[in-house]
Amino acid sequence: MIVAFDFDGTLVDSYSVIEEAFRRALEKHFRWLLFKSAWAKLLAKLEMYFERPTFGKHKKKSRPPFFLRTKFMETWFEERARLTKPLDDAPELLKKLKEEGHLVISFSAEDFIDGMKVRRLKISGLYELFDDIIVFGREMTIDEAFQLVRRKYGNEVFVWVDDKPWRFIGHGDENTEYVWYYFPPTAKFVEKNRELLALIPHLHVIRDLWSIFDVIKRVKFER
Ligand SMILES: [Mg+2]
Repeated sequence: MIVAFDFDGTLVDSYSVIEEAFRRALEKHFRWLLFKSAWAKLLAKLEMYFERPTFGKHKKKSRPPFFLRTKFMETWFEERARLTKPLDDAPELLKKLKEEGHLVISFSAEDFIDGMKVRRLKISGLYELFDDIIVFGREMTIDEAFQLVRRKYGNEVFVWVDDKPWRFIGHGDENTEYVWYYFPPTAKFVEKNRELLALIPHLHVIRDLWSIFDVIKRVKFER
């Protein structure tokens, strides 16, 4: 099977460090600024605003607003990457999946700054563990990224793991199994729109990454 993983909130906890990364970026770029911790808290709130669901969208490529493409934000992403920790022993999980013969790919959206996702994958030490890295949202839409996977690797079952299940709506094909990794900081957005989950066929919910092996077993049995 092709097993595809999102990055933030799926393989790594890059959420609990958002505020501290802002504090460090402020320290570097705005040393003179007073109340840096308070500013960091505010910026962290603002960043979570951008994480909110856009149900059924993701149809287009987008360019983020200019204030998110600054040196300051670049430093923030780098500090965030340095502070980020893998979830559920993710590196071991990726290795185990490959050992079992699965094709393991990184399938996630570009950050506000071009090329940043790959840089963060490298800092996290996960980059080398993937068979392929596919980044959508800037040069490619999700659908184009998905078609690219199909062209490169054929029609076998695509197991798509993401902490933001709203991203699944309207994407994939009949050979896609959708796995929602329940990650509390982003899951709270889903609670308010639970009924939309009914729009996703073949949806599995896991709270621990290692449960992916149970999903794979079930899928093999059912198909
Ligand atoms: Mg995510």
